[in-house]
Amino acid sequence: MAAQTLDGKATAEAVRRDLAAEVSTLREQYEVQPCLAAVLVGDDPASQVYVRNKRQGCEAVGIRSVLHRLPAATELPRLLDLIDRLNEDRSVHGILVQLPLPRGLDEAAVIERIDPIKDVDGFHPVNLGLLAAGRPRLVACTPLGIRVLLRRAGIETRGRRIVILGRSITVGRPLALLLSQKGPDGDATVTLAHTATVDPAALCREADVVIAAAGQPELVRCDWIRPGAVVVDVGIHRRGDGSLCGDVHAPSVSQVAGWLSPVPGGVGPMTVAMLLHNTLQAARLQIGLLQGNESRPGS
Ligand code: NAD
Repeated sequence: MAAQTLDGKATAEAVRRDLAAEVSTLREQYEVQPCLAAVLVGDDPASQVYVRNKRQGCEAVGIRSVLHRLPAATELPRLLDLIDRLNEDRSVHGILVQLPLPRGLDEAAVIERIDPIKDVDGFHPVNLGLLAAGRPRLVACTPLGIRVLLRRAGIETRGRRIVILGRSITVGRPLALLLSQKGPDGDATVTLAHTATVDPAALCREADVVIAAAGQPELVRCDWIRPGAVVVDVGIHRRGDGSLCGDVHAPSVSQVAGWLSPVPGGVGPMTVAMLLHNTLQAARLQIGLLQGNESRPGS
């Protein structure tokens, strides 16, 4: 039997409807309109599309967005100076610097310059540290989106064996922290696999949930998956013929898995929805409505 679809597009739409209502309540009660400042350095076409989608997402739920474009040859001090100004601007609640930055710009220095309370990507060491300490505040959008996708499909993580392929600081590692955290939507037994892992296929075959974020086209084959397991495909790759695929070989895995997230239409839309959620959370944090770890979108 074919796997059920983990429909990120429909779930993200439902999350956005909820967010639109919450943004409107914030505006009515506190006269605050959340605002995201996006910073785009250079003219990479994919980055331009990502930033445009994020800004359109903001506007659709009533979040204001402003775009700061800088030329590819921008030097670090000028970029840091812009971030300093956005940090100080009380009308800006979230700062997003689109990655990757042009070669030569130190991404870590840029991320660390963002005020952690405006770090809507959740990449700042303070926010990663809070997550590791079990007090998540602004959590990276892709891991958060995966957790909400599982929750809204009614998929329990408590007590389940989850294998995550990929240990990046933007996806795999924060996701492992999130899913192994004590409490609702956590409580999983997580294995974080990476390039030095011996026999990731054997690990996956033991798993109730496999989350593929290795950046390797169609790496996960049907013989990696236990019948009925949940498979989340984070990868996104463009083939030579222009079509898209993920880190999972969807035609064969969908015949074995119980659930599978499609590419496109799975994790991608959830990532954008969580950026909007984080911008709203950041606004709430900045006006003193939240202390920290109340971030539980779409519950
Ligand atoms: P990355 O290249 O930074 O990290 C990849 C990780 O996978 C590394 O930790 C590496 O050790 C591990 N890895 C590589 N080969 C492996 C293998 N054979 N087995 C186990 N682990 C292996 O990539 P990333 O930024 O984490 O992104 C991963 C994928 O997810 C990419 O395809 C990216 O385009 C996609 N992505 C999608 C979204 C979305 O919103 N849909 C968001 C972020 C990333």
